[in-house]
Amino acid sequence: MKAVIIGAGMGGLSAAIALKQIGVDVEVYEQVTENKPVGAAISVWSNGVKCLNHLGLEKETAALGGIVDSMSYIDGFTGDTMCRFSMQPLIDEVGQRPYPVARAELQLMLMNAYGIDDINFGKKMVSVADGPDAATVEFADGTAVSADMVIGADGARSLAREYVLGHPVDRRYAGYVNFNGLVDVDEAIGPATEWTTYVGDGKRVSVMPIAGNRFYFFFDVTMPEGRPYERGTAREVLAESFADWSPGVQRLIAALDPATTNRVEILDLDPFHTWVKGRVAVLGDAAHNTTPDIGQGGCSAMEDAVALQFAFEEHPDDVGAALAAYESARTERAGELVLRARKRCDVTHAKDPEATAAWYDELRSEDGTRVIRGIVSNIVGGPLT
Ligand code: FAD
Repeated sequence: MKAVIIGAGMGGLSAAIALKQIGVDVEVYEQVTENKPVGAAISVWSNGVKCLNHLGLEKETAALGGIVDSMSYIDGFTGDTMCRFSMQPLIDEVGQRPYPVARAELQLMLMNAYGIDDINFGKKMVSVADGPDAATVEFADGTAVSADMVIGADGARSLAREYVLGHPVDRRYAGYVNFNGLVDVDEAIGPATEWTTYVGDGKRVSVMPIAGNRFYFFFDVTMPEGRPYERGTAREVLAESFADWSPGVQRLIAALDPATTNRVEILDLDPFHTWVKGRVAVLGDAAHNTTPDIGQGGCSAMEDAVALQFAFEEHPDDVGAALAAYESARTERAGELVLRARKRCDVTHAKDPEATAAWYDELRSEDGTRVIRGIVSNIVGGPLT
């Protein structure tokens, strides 16, 4: 059984490792020529960590992960603590600590686990087609490859998705821009082992620890789509957007490196339930493109990879049956996470200002129970539950 995987992001690489584990002959093709992930870090929630553990990467993941012992919400303007609570009940309930990790380090860990020298870089897929005995991918350099199956893990602007659905789709602008990067831990911004989030006015500023005494930070700023932006000007833009915010936020704006701060317009895609056409399947953002508001996009991609492995374990010699099992195991769960993230996004970013004001009030009386219940409900339900 041979699989061609298009895309060496966290979805494609997790799938490559998962299939290789069960003896599938895997080839990975990636359009970029080197490991240069977009974005600074991600929070790998417990469900994602369990997938990485399942792929044999327990020690490696823990070594990259920050320790988040508590969570807090801070009034962005006054700097007053709205609530602070321990993460331990969550860890106890789901049986695994979450780990925020630097993207480049996660990516390198996955590449090494698969075999970095075995990744075919600089290979941009320009077409994919199904056939009775094999599926075939053509690349921009004029070469082609065939396999028993093609897994399109080619991200949010997926070409494989277009093939599987039979038409292109329009993604939806979620109404805000996310600025993100890494800074050294600074307790004047937030405690070293806490996920700290400043909120106010439908905006959000957050820091969470990753390994190496660093914070992953992000700022969410609501604004119309397509605003011009010159790379390197993050400090000026954020100083203006958060001018009257509290000293912790000002300190973060002063600490960030504008040259390495990323700016991402946030989009998502309505869930869809056709992930397979013949021998071609989509996985990761190609199959479910979500806003990052519950931090589940990458975790969901890792769940896809594990589900794909389980499907081929169940149907080792039958691509059609295995891909059908994969599709039926995943579309509902992944679509649900997309819709939950969208709902959370609307509340966080004041789509309805009254609902957001009510959320701020709730946070002032929060003891952690409701927030943790919400996060746990996102975490459970995947292939490793
Ligand atoms: P990608 O990472 O996009 O990888 C796709 C790969 O395919 C790329 O390497 C690309 O170069 C390659 N490719 C594309 N087209 C072709 C082609 N034609 N030929 C060959 N190669 C191709 N998720 C979480 O779990 N937790 C978080 O905290 C979190 N935070 C986020 C914050 C932000 C601001 C954003 C934008 C996303 C966040 N996510 C988070 C989501 C997460 O980043 C994605 O879900 C994840 O990267 C999806 O992985 P993927 O492998 O499916 O796609």
